[in-house]
Amino acid sequence: MRWPKLRELKEAVIAVFSPRFTTRFPAKPCQVPPKYRGKPEFDEKECIGCGACVNVCPTQSLMMIDDTNANPPVRRITQRHDCCIFCGNCQENCITEKGIRLTNQWDLATLDRESTKQIHEHELQLCEKCGAIVGVKKHLVWIYERLGPLAYTNPSLVVAKSADLKHSGLEELSQQAKQTPAKNADIQPGDFMKILCPSCKYELNIRL
Ligand code: SF4
Ligand code: SF4
Repeated sequence: MRWPKLRELKEAVIAVFSPRFTTRFPAKPCQVPPKYRGKPEFDEKECIGCGACVNVCPTQSLMMIDDTNANPPVRRITQRHDCCIFCGNCQENCITEKGIRLTNQWDLATLDRESTKQIHEHELQLCEKCGAIVGVKKHLVWIYERLGPLAYTNPSLVVAKSADLKHSGLEELSQQAKQTPAKNADIQPGDFMKILCPSCKYELNIRL
């Protein structure tokens, strides 16, 4: 029983004369390692509002709601870092790879939980026939740009891109097509130049 006690005493003496292992925070700022996983932050320019990060967040630190009553309709992504576990799932699954990134901000303690909340809004595109949600406008433009020439197989993407660029030629073409006389009350040839949800597009392809 005596020997373990002596060993512990030796360790205590060594610890007293060794340099400190802890930091002097808060007297001095704490430097974290470069790969430290701290508060995630959205990049407004790179985020397209697809919601993939929301779907993989295990703690509901990220939540989203589509508000079609707003003018214009918007997708609201709410981020609150008081329940974030800094797992990095959001960053790993971001489809643009730059929309959200973990920073090395770690000193996030607060008594006001509401101050940990941030809201990011993205304008929604509704189906021009039935009003169903097609997606976030920026997301449609992103898909158009990823597909390149293949995007021309989907007029909705072309119209979404032309609206984004305010391309007068395509907009005029789209307007003319929309004014084409109807064959029947529901479906018109001009609907091909509208941004449609999958079920309206399906109906259009079957009936015209
Ligand atoms: S780091 Fe993890 S818990 Fe925090 S927002 Fe991203 S996915 Fe959610
Ligand atoms: S996955 Fe990326 S692009 Fe999509 S909403 Fe999240 S941060 Fe934005």
